Amino acid sequence: MNQVWGSLVWAVLLVSLLAGAPLGFFWGREAALEGIIGGLVLLLGWHHFQLGRLLDWLAGPMEARVPETVGLWDAAFAGLHRRTRIRVGEQQTLSAALANFSRAAQALPDGIIVFDQHRRIDWMNHSAIKHFSLKPEDRGQVMTHLIRQPDFIAYLDSARYDDPLVYRSEHSPGLTLLLKVIPYGEDRTLLLSHDIGHQERLERVRSDFIANVSHELKTPLTVVAGFAEMLADDPTGYSDEEVRRYLTLINEQSLRMRRLIEDLLTLSGLETDGHKAAEEPVEVEPLLQTILTEAQALSAGRHQISLSIDAPAVLRGCSNELRSAFGNLASNAVRYTPEGGRIELTWQRTADGGARFVVADTGIGVSPQHLPRLTERFYRVDRSRSRETGGTGLGLAIVKHVLTHHQATLEISSELGSGSRFAARFPAQRLID
Ligand code: ADP
Repeated sequence: MNQVWGSLVWAVLLVSLLAGAPLGFFWGREAALEGIIGGLVLLLGWHHFQLGRLLDWLAGPMEARVPETVGLWDAAFAGLHRRTRIRVGEQQTLSAALANFSRAAQALPDGIIVFDQHRRIDWMNHSAIKHFSLKPEDRGQVMTHLIRQPDFIAYLDSARYDDPLVYRSEHSPGLTLLLKVIPYGEDRTLLLSHDIGHQERLERVRSDFIANVSHELKTPLTVVAGFAEMLADDPTGYSDEEVRRYLTLINEQSLRMRRLIEDLLTLSGLETDGHKAAEEPVEVEPLLQTILTEAQALSAGRHQISLSIDAPAVLRGCSNELRSAFGNLASNAVRYTPEGGRIELTWQRTADGGARFVVADTGIGVSPQHLPRLTERFYRVDRSRSRETGGTGLGLAIVKHVLTHHQATLEISSELGSGSRFAARFPAQRLID
């Protein structure tokens, strides 16, 4: 304020001096007075002019340059300009932070809906739109007009939000959400939705797996326990022939349990998190010779089995795993091909620089509806045939895991009654030249 008064006094003195002094000197007092008044009018006019420029600038766009002037008005313009700059800067920082926050909230895999006391949607992210089959234009709509499931409305009405709601969507079967409602501020509420479908599926797979394993072990165990109990109760009550038969059955069932446990251990080793296949060089030719010998031993002369290798190769991977996978494919061919059938084991380079191991048989084949499920654990087309031939139902699940570890894929084609073809296809980067 002092600065303003100081400048005013100085301006008046200056105008008086400039206009009044020479006039008073030459033409007397009245002329001096008129000179001073004229000077003051000029000064007022100048201030009015500057005020006009200020008003024009204030009415103009935010980014317009501040007018250039001198003296007090220059200081005033500069001060205003500085304040505007700071305000604009703060606003930009704030809008950037808000945009960032909004982007982060949009990117969340969990759904968020913000609604008011009338349950009108204020804001929602992409996941919420997906979870509740909404549309971006639904902002501003009453949420319960759009999500009408009775359990959800009852949950909102209850106003007891300590426990989340498990919401099974009627719109999208298979979608299960965990909903949490959190009131905040004066009249706003957050609705959070978390997709637990995957967790539920995992849980189901785990319990199915336990049920399957128990079932698989129960039958042989019952046989072993039954015969063992019979023999223990009356050790001399059976003929040698009977005892030999019972012991053979006990032995077979023990072997079956052992095979199952071995396959389970292999599978659990392959499924362990962080498991990585060893990256050793594996010579394909000797590996396939071993697979051929094992297949011939299993066939015991009942099939014609051939091996053809178009070019010797070295694979980068884990020899034990590859042996187990290739062995499973070959033994399946033997087990599912009736006597007299043909089995061809082939190693071929592919046009893309990769390679494939193919096992083709003239066996019983598989009808198309079973093909997509063959690699599931314990999935069998014909349970009794699988068991009779010593199957555990885990062979192809092991094959699939091993191949995944080697970035390889399993291609299956089959025709019921004519035979099957299982091909393990390796990418070029798995081959060492
Ligand atoms: P299994 O121990 O029962 O053979 P796998 O996981 O190895 O278990 O195979 C799953 C199912 O796929 C088998 O039960 C069988 O029905 C089918 N299968 C696998 N290989 C063949 C094949 N070469 N020919 C016909 N069916 C096959």
